[in-house]
Amino acid sequence: MNGQFLRGKRAVVTGSNSGIGLGIAEALAGAGAEVVINSFTDSPEDHALAARLAKEHGTQVRYIQADMSRPDDCRALIEQAGGCDILVNNAGIQHVARIEEFPAAKWDAIIAINLSSAFHTTAAALAGMYDKGWGRVINVASAHGLTASPFKSAYVAAKHGVVGLSKTTALEAAGKGVTCNAICPGYVLTPIVENQIPDQMKTHNMDRETVIRQVMLARQPSGEFATTGQIGGTALFLCSDAADQITGTTISVDGGWTAL
Ligand code: NAD
Repeated sequence: MNGQFLRGKRAVVTGSNSGIGLGIAEALAGAGAEVVINSFTDSPEDHALAARLAKEHGTQVRYIQADMSRPDDCRALIEQAGGCDILVNNAGIQHVARIEEFPAAKWDAIIAINLSSAFHTTAAALAGMYDKGWGRVINVASAHGLTASPFKSAYVAAKHGVVGLSKTTALEAAGKGVTCNAICPGYVLTPIVENQIPDQMKTHNMDRETVIRQVMLARQPSGEFATTGQIGGTALFLCSDAADQITGTTISVDGGWTAL
């Protein structure tokens, strides 16, 4: 791969002012892509982050506010970006509760942000990719797109849905120079995971380190978190020529979780 092989390509990464989305945005900007980062907030920090990435990587980086729980915002994000060659559907939230106690509003929000947003942005982006005869749709699913855990009903349902949407997108895009795949990370230590630690400490009556080792990383045979840089590198590979014929599949970055 030429170090700047994405010069001239525009990437939109949803939910990218922190964590995995930010790692992917940095990887794409590092390869020369023009990048649009996004979240539902519109703070000076969001715009400062875009300016920092632009300066560090010598490419254009814009921040566009759009709430991925709203279908119109999802479509407007692609329009305001001016279309994109690379679409990374990454925005996601989590809520942990048993089904009988799972708030209906949380179910709806998780399905909207983690699954339906990917449908709306993809629907808005595909025609432009077809016109150019090249495109990449990369959906950030999860090990929970392939396996389940108790108390994560909405998240597991949404992520399985993302894997299904990726396969259908790949089939419709086949032969048009456009691929679609789902990256399935295991645990990555980002805010979405940090926020689960206090509850898990209470539920299991354990200290932080024990929760990390015995509850979270118990699913991950490597015994290590995956990193945002590794997920960024995987997205970058999916954008390369080597991945031209990789479509409609999942790539696990999970330390062996799904091999168990
Ligand atoms: P994170 O909380 O750091 O990132 C979530 C991102 O989504 C943030 O940028 C947040 O601002 C954004 N977001 C949330 N609600 C939004 C909305 N309504 N509109 C627009 N943006 C919104 O967590 P993360 O770990 O980086 O998660 C990113 C993705 O990776 C998610 O889809 C998550 O399910 C997935 N994932 C994470 C892990 C992990 O262990 N961290 C594992 C597998 C999959």
